[in-house]
Amino acid sequence: MPERRRVRVTGTVQGVGFRPFVYRHAVALGLSGFVRNDSEGVLIEIEGRGSSLDELCRLLTDAPPPLARVTGVRATTTRAGGSAEGFRIIASAPEGRPDAPVSIDTATCDACLAEVADPADRRYRYPFTNCTDCGPRYTIVTAVPYDRPATTMAGFTMCGACQAEYDDPADRRFHAQPNACPTCGPTPRLCLPDGTTTDVGDGALRGAARLLGGGRTVAVKGLGGFHLATDATDPEAVATLRRRKARDDKPFAVLVADLTGARALCDLDDAAAAALCSPGRPIVVAAKRSGTPVAPGVAPGLPDLGVMLPYTALHHLLLVAVGRPLVLTSGNASDEPIAHTDDDAVARLGPLCDALLTHDRPIHIRCDDSVVRGTGGPVQVLRRSRGMAPEPLALPRPARRPLLAVGAELKSTVAVAKGTTVTLSHHIGDLEHLAAHRSFVQAIDHLCHLAGVRPEVVVHDLHPEYLSTKLAVDLDLPTVAVQHHHAHIAACLAEHGRTGPVLGVAFDGTGLGPDGSLWGGELLVADLDGYERVGHLAPAPLPGGTSAIREPWRMAVAWTHVALGSASAEGAGAALADDPAKGAAVAALAARDTTPTTTSAGRLFDAVAALLGVRGRVTYEAQAAIELEALARTRPLAGAATYPVDRRWDGTTLVLDPGPLVATVIAERDAGTAPADIAAGFHEGLGRATAAAAAELAGRHGLSTVALSGGVFQNARLTAVVVGALAATGLEVLTHHRVPCNDGGISLGQAAVAAGA
Ligand code: ZN
Ligand code: ZN
Ligand code: FE
Repeated sequence: MPERRRVRVTGTVQGVGFRPFVYRHAVALGLSGFVRNDSEGVLIEIEGRGSSLDELCRLLTDAPPPLARVTGVRATTTRAGGSAEGFRIIASAPEGRPDAPVSIDTATCDACLAEVADPADRRYRYPFTNCTDCGPRYTIVTAVPYDRPATTMAGFTMCGACQAEYDDPADRRFHAQPNACPTCGPTPRLCLPDGTTTDVGDGALRGAARLLGGGRTVAVKGLGGFHLATDATDPEAVATLRRRKARDDKPFAVLVADLTGARALCDLDDAAAAALCSPGRPIVVAAKRSGTPVAPGVAPGLPDLGVMLPYTALHHLLLVAVGRPLVLTSGNASDEPIAHTDDDAVARLGPLCDALLTHDRPIHIRCDDSVVRGTGGPVQVLRRSRGMAPEPLALPRPARRPLLAVGAELKSTVAVAKGTTVTLSHHIGDLEHLAAHRSFVQAIDHLCHLAGVRPEVVVHDLHPEYLSTKLAVDLDLPTVAVQHHHAHIAACLAEHGRTGPVLGVAFDGTGLGPDGSLWGGELLVADLDGYERVGHLAPAPLPGGTSAIREPWRMAVAWTHVALGSASAEGAGAALADDPAKGAAVAALAARDTTPTTTSAGRLFDAVAALLGVRGRVTYEAQAAIELEALARTRPLAGAATYPVDRRWDGTTLVLDPGPLVATVIAERDAGTAPADIAAGFHEGLGRATAAAAAELAGRHGLSTVALSGGVFQNARLTAVVVGALAATGLEVLTHHRVPCNDGGISLGQAAVAAGA
């Protein structure tokens, strides 16, 4: 007696070869019925022997296609129709609410690469080769359900050969929406910086490779936008790119052909190598090897290098033709959003490059490369973007109402949540730039649309001056404000599926506290509903507001004032400022009661970096702290001196005072101790004091878990010291891995908090 079941599959199940997978197994099991995409995911009706139905349901859960993320399989028995029509794939149902997650952009698979390399194949050297297992998704989809007319491939009509693949359930390209070939698909085009075409087709690729081989800069259209590419081994070429991009020191990522090529440049442990080769193909930051051919100007003054493997056939073909590692950096000037349309690329990148290698498949949504860092353990995601967004995450508790969380201001991301599903956008960038602001509005629309969320509440930072806050308030929806450091800890909780309470350590640049001062070195007893500030770093003057962020020497003067008083601060001002009058003015500001103060841990790192002569001015965010960490890492973790930190109770609040730590840094510097030893002693002292304070506060408040969040914990050395010291106490420690600890994770934390509102 045949049975019939209706099976609802949810998760990331569209655009990942799910229907052909179901088709093949259903046919092999002798089942009849159908499978189709709809706005909730995949719907299957199967009829046949009970044991065969069980087997198909088991495969859906236990062995789905590689790119699928199945979150639910719900089977219900329906009336058997005795249908003898066999098994079919039927057209998507466009009705209903679009709930089905759109899958991530995925690197070209081995089967496709083999075709591209085979002179007898019709896709030989075709740069846009893809199949159901690989290719563009998020960046080309314009609507859901995910079908070809709802992508930027809508304008390309498949040729007979492609259509036959698309229609054949046994083919790897069955229902591969971006399916294309040289006859019917996008065509590469090489053009001059003014947009004039010089070559098309394979000649364009060969021409671009020739220019790159000759040390020129070529803007290359990838999946999520344009990159600027140049020969990474050519110091002259790298210097030219830096000059044109007005990017002084911020490191460039390097594209290499394969894992072996990456290992020649960087020390990659197993986790870092796995991340590098994963279908999302992030940039992996790891320790640079010495004696590599990569020009020093690629990552000046840093012990680490970011490497990445090619993720489209176009990048593979370019690399093979050039035969050397290529710098591949976002196609933008400084921190603006990456250029993603051809017109924009000609306007903004034309002046920065010698040629553009573009093509006629539009990019619907811009998406920068993702960045992860090797840590020795699991990798840490620093930027969650192409190849990771918009893969949904789970909230530890359901959102009472559909919500939108707009994040903070730097490294901006937004998040939408419905039920327990939360979807984070790609990396939007720093909202200080007008172009990023436009990109921000676009990202919100796109994400709400794709995730099928119509927000009923909007969540923002407490800071009224953030552009994100202003936009949130303008949306004419009920709003919830979440304090910045509470959001950091909530993001860490959410990543681990926890609701708290925990003792949270939130160390970052700055965020506004409810008292109107700038926080950034906070110890909070926090759960998703609220927090209490139970400890913090001692405040230091912030002389000159935002210019103190760009000029760490100002923080050095401020902390000298806190540690040793005004006479020493005047001396520091005279020694560190490029102009003595400015030095005196900053020392005077540091001494004045009316100067705003901050408890920022990030600014403390800046101060110490400047005191050690590492850097008095930065050209990119957190540069001084990154270089101070690099210096500390030249010394082994074990055996570093522990510089002292004072502690005092202000009522029931524990205040950690780094004054003695800074005084020791200055004394050791003046005694001629090597800066690397001082940097190590600073990390050790601050890290141990932080761990001890967290452990004590956890004990007082009856907590067994400590959560570490905030951009300062991108510092692997500090994290290692804190985690090591906490491990000895028996407390459980939560750190970030899948979501950035920096402000890129704020929107997740906001969503987790506001879920209860
Ligand atoms: Zn493929
Ligand atoms: Zn074709
Ligand atoms: Fe922050």
